[in-house]
Amino acid sequence: APANSPSDTDITDWDRDHNLHPWATTDSWRTDDYMRINTAKGIYVWDSTGKKFIDGPGGMWCVQIGYGRQDMADAIAKQVMEMPYASPWSSTSEPAAILARKIAEMTPGDLDTVFFTTGGSTAVDTALRTVQFYNNRLGRPEKKLIMAREKGYHGSTYLASSVTGKERFNTKYDNASDLVRFLPDVNPYGRPEGTTLDQWCDQKVADMEALIEREGADNIGAFIAEPILCSGGVIVPPPGYHKRTLDLCRKHDILYISDEVVTGFGRLGHWFASEEVFDIVPDMITCAKGLTSGYLPLGACIMSNALMKRMEDPTGEEVFYNGYTYTGHPVSCAAALKNIEIMEDEDILGHVQRVTPHFQDRLKAIGEKFDIVGDVRGMGLLGCIECRPDLPQDTFDAHLKFGAKLDMACEEMGLMLRPFGNMAVFSPPLIISKEEIDDMFDIMEAGLEKLS
Ligand code: PLP
Repeated sequence: APANSPSDTDITDWDRDHNLHPWATTDSWRTDDYMRINTAKGIYVWDSTGKKFIDGPGGMWCVQIGYGRQDMADAIAKQVMEMPYASPWSSTSEPAAILARKIAEMTPGDLDTVFFTTGGSTAVDTALRTVQFYNNRLGRPEKKLIMAREKGYHGSTYLASSVTGKERFNTKYDNASDLVRFLPDVNPYGRPEGTTLDQWCDQKVADMEALIEREGADNIGAFIAEPILCSGGVIVPPPGYHKRTLDLCRKHDILYISDEVVTGFGRLGHWFASEEVFDIVPDMITCAKGLTSGYLPLGACIMSNALMKRMEDPTGEEVFYNGYTYTGHPVSCAAALKNIEIMEDEDILGHVQRVTPHFQDRLKAIGEKFDIVGDVRGMGLLGCIECRPDLPQDTFDAHLKFGAKLDMACEEMGLMLRPFGNMAVFSPPLIISKEEIDDMFDIMEAGLEKLS
């Protein structure tokens, strides 16, 4: 049995021997390499040796209000003591009802119905199952294909991973490939030389038109898209793309699911990006992560009134067989309510809008200054640095590409990044100050100097 006070070595051994991490590479799933975060405050984390880092990835794109908030701890503790769990099937709880109404107020258009889930993957899974329920309910069971995109990431349940375009060839997992059709990469970087952004947008819309033509609109149930493809490398589609693809979906009675798991809750300076940034009102929005600032797990699939109305069955015989033991978990909902209250009281959205130009200017400067950098891109407090594709990217070590090399160089100087192949991405806590943004980019520049 575990000793009362495990030593540092015990923790390392037990983690290596018994704790399987997500996305472990199969040759290293018995590794000691995981950094152990022991404490965290504001935008900073400290590892088990006491070394301090700026948390560049913001946990995993989720720590909006920063770490170590006493008011979050108090709100969570209060709910635990009052009522930690309520069966969502036979009862409800105050936090779930209040939060559902609050989210309905924040979302665009008539997206007024909130289905709580355990995280982003289950929010996406719920949205995709709803597409099936909806079309079966309307007596058109063939209208089920989902259009998704290369480099999109939507999660790790069977359906959410099936619509994930990222790395789908590099896995031994099966997926529901008969249900999904992928649209080609929308990344403006790497578009054929001489192609303007407008022409690129035309091409991407044409890709969707061609897919609809090929498969037949009667066979296509929905399109799922992140407003910005985040895990795929912070890919911002060309201007006009969102609106035009939504119009195309509307024309063919295809549902539009906007996956705002990363872009929701302030990342771009708005509660949601769909309408306020990209001028679209989708049929469903999925969210998670920033909803609780990562303090507790929670996600949501938000549905439009029009969709709800069309799924209604006057006989009451149909049951919406989708749900989790932890749907609307009172403690997670209480954490989300406090997180949103803090964001409102401290004007976090205004803060993001105020510091974004500086953040994006510093990012742009990196693109101009370093020859090894092929592209920099971002929006709000999201950023990505991509290595020039013509450089040898794995000279350091067979497994370490540019992203990992840059992350290692930066970690030495106290900044964590999220490496992904020949890219490094970052999405710091939204409370980051202008000075801290400078600290972050100063380290990145020093790291790039080392690699240059
Ligand atoms: N959707 C998007 C856009 C995401 O980025 C993620 C996670 O990174 C997910 C869904 C899955 O969320 P979760 O990991 O909470 O299940």
